[in-house]
Amino acid sequence: MKILVINSGSSSLKYQLFDIESGDVLAKGTCERIGLGDGIVTHKVPGRDNYRIEPNMPSHDSALEIVFELLTDKTHGVIESIECIDAVGHRVAHGGEKYKKSSRVDSEMIDYLETIVPINPLHGPPAIKGMRACTRLLPNTPQVAVFDTSFYSDIEEYGYVYALPYEYYTEDKIRRYGFHGTSHRYVSQKTAEFLGKDIKSMKIITCHLGNGSSISAVDGGKAVDTSMGFTPQEGIPMGTRSGSIDPTVIPYIMKKHGLTPDEMSDVLNKKSGLLGISGVSSDFRDCLAAAKDGNKRAILALNILATAIKKHVGAYTAEMNGLDALVFTAGMGENQSEIRRMVCENMSYLGIKIDNDKNENFTRGVPFDITAADSKVKVLIIPTDEEYMIALDTESIVR
Ligand code: ADP
Repeated sequence: MKILVINSGSSSLKYQLFDIESGDVLAKGTCERIGLGDGIVTHKVPGRDNYRIEPNMPSHDSALEIVFELLTDKTHGVIESIECIDAVGHRVAHGGEKYKKSSRVDSEMIDYLETIVPINPLHGPPAIKGMRACTRLLPNTPQVAVFDTSFYSDIEEYGYVYALPYEYYTEDKIRRYGFHGTSHRYVSQKTAEFLGKDIKSMKIITCHLGNGSSISAVDGGKAVDTSMGFTPQEGIPMGTRSGSIDPTVIPYIMKKHGLTPDEMSDVLNKKSGLLGISGVSSDFRDCLAAAKDGNKRAILALNILATAIKKHVGAYTAEMNGLDALVFTAGMGENQSEIRRMVCENMSYLGIKIDNDKNENFTRGVPFDITAADSKVKVLIIPTDEEYMIALDTESIVR
């Protein structure tokens, strides 16, 4: 079965075509600058040179048309015709309160997703465009939506309702939704598989540390808590996002500096986090290099980040009454031994100890155990693969 996974952004569209039986990626690529004039499409087929074109892509429809041409092209393609695509899986950031699991795309779903655009203004419209484009171009091919929020649909009410007047939840739907769920679900399942254990008997904390970062507590295979909230802004500091701060700081800054809500949102989303604290970069690599050169603000940024992660690990261990595995994933979690070292330092009270040599000399791109011999808790690096998880969900629903 061949499954096309699509991740639509406001001006981009990423795609991967999987052969689900073998698990192979047959082709993948990115369409950038959709609707912005000169577009860029990068198409990659394993074992062949990357192919890059610069077409005009006024819409997601036109971008998908180009993707289908590339996938079926005599020279650059991997399938005979688009009828060879058995199903399409869409990455959808937000399923609101209605979609608690991956589901078939239909007009009822699209109508509902339209109604929650106000609480998902950045990611909702492009995902809907991607679904509409596929419906038009592949009318007979089943489509499945896989929601980043759905992994958190089993969290208890006391875990997702904020301590605001309750009407803000009932009337305005302001609550914790959680994001990155597809990654946390994949990584927690892989953890159990890697350790040869039944996930139902495991307590796992997954740290997805990338440009956007989140931490989840997974008990018996179900998420019981997560650091992101109503939006991906809540939780630990990120590349450019502040993460959680005293909420009263926001109206105070707005009044003092005369900022509009959009300007304040820009500060919180694009100018804060590692970038805001360090003044160096949003990228952990740059902050680490600056910290090694003695840059005090870069050192501060790394300490703030590592402490925030530690606090979540402690809180989630308490919440689950135990911990079997602490897992690092995504760009920073998988590749940066320094952040793992800082987080796991002085955690022996919780039974967490890493082997510094294994942490430094880990093998990239595969599950890797960095646990010290006398650690009670397993500490692992598990590479995430959200697209594959989407393809698996799509396959199981379509079958
Ligand atoms: P996104 O959340 O946008 O998908 P990533 O998962 O790539 O981003 O994470 C970006 C962060 O991960 C950056 O801080 C970067 O320093 C770090 N990172 C990503 N890839 C690597 C790598 N190969 N080596 C070291 N650090 C990396």
